Amino acid sequence: SIAQTKQEIQQTVEQAYLEFKDVQEGKNADYIKELARVDPSIFGIVVVDVEGNTYSAGDNFSKVSIQSVSKAFVLSLVLEESGPIVIKEKVGANATGFPFNSIIAMEINRESGINSMVNAGAIATTSLVSGNTAEEKWEAIVNKLSDFAGRRLEVDEAVYISEAGDNQRNVAQAQLLKAYDKIYFDADQSVDIYTRQCALSVNARDLATMAATLASGGNNPITNKRVVSPDAVSYTLPVMATAGLYENSGKWLYQTGLPAKSGVGGALIAVVPGKFGIAVVAPPLDEAGNSVKGQLAINYIVEKLKLNPYLVE
Ligand code: GLN
Repeated sequence: SIAQTKQEIQQTVEQAYLEFKDVQEGKNADYIKELARVDPSIFGIVVVDVEGNTYSAGDNFSKVSIQSVSKAFVLSLVLEESGPIVIKEKVGANATGFPFNSIIAMEINRESGINSMVNAGAIATTSLVSGNTAEEKWEAIVNKLSDFAGRRLEVDEAVYISEAGDNQRNVAQAQLLKAYDKIYFDADQSVDIYTRQCALSVNARDLATMAATLASGGNNPITNKRVVSPDAVSYTLPVMATAGLYENSGKWLYQTGLPAKSGVGGALIAVVPGKFGIAVVAPPLDEAGNSVKGQLAINYIVEKLKLNPYLVE
């Protein structure tokens, strides 16, 4: 149950916005050229509770590409379709402790060097989505992510084209997965579907609704549609906790206690199970590729509203 009043929650979200809106640290991702062109001053915070109430401040509707935040939702789709054993055995769920695009992680530990929240593991996870063709797999992904958001999501074509022309590293990782028997569909096509899923265009409201759907055990609290089973959610959240912020996942968990997922487009979501989905959109990133203002704002809200599930009194 939600202990705070609606007014308290809304005020906290507004305070977080005012507290951090002038922070200048961080820098847009630029290894995908199109991301460097996004307005770095976009800053939106949205919280959706499991009853579907929305609290917000700043740019609710400015869109960014979802990037790695998609990984959490594609994982939940595969968990829904195939169950937890498939992910445990075919991808793995250990923290890599390495950057999101690390090839060294895959080499140092072939058993546990990948995770669905980093690129190699995410491409493997995408390859596991149901469908005999790339088109069928893509449809399954875009339909499911749209159900999470509660509206039809669309690809930002400029971002897709930009990344598709510049993703040799992901192509190489998919080929390595193939060499190690850890990819379950055509490697190049799996990368292409993954690149498209990362280019889906979302705003802070979409992201908070998606996070709130996880918080409420797979039921979208805005549309009231069941998107995935509680079981799929229960296995998605721990994977987010282990690697959702890449090599800084441990530090993040230490501070907030919450499963979360970042993306290089500037999105960051956190899930408070049974209570809230929290989302921030703010493109400037730290060295690990996590939104600077996103981390500050969510941390602030979590502390003020005492949302860390490890808190004991
Ligand atoms: N599409 C991006 C990539 O593969 C996603 C990375 C991220 O958001 N960390 O590099």
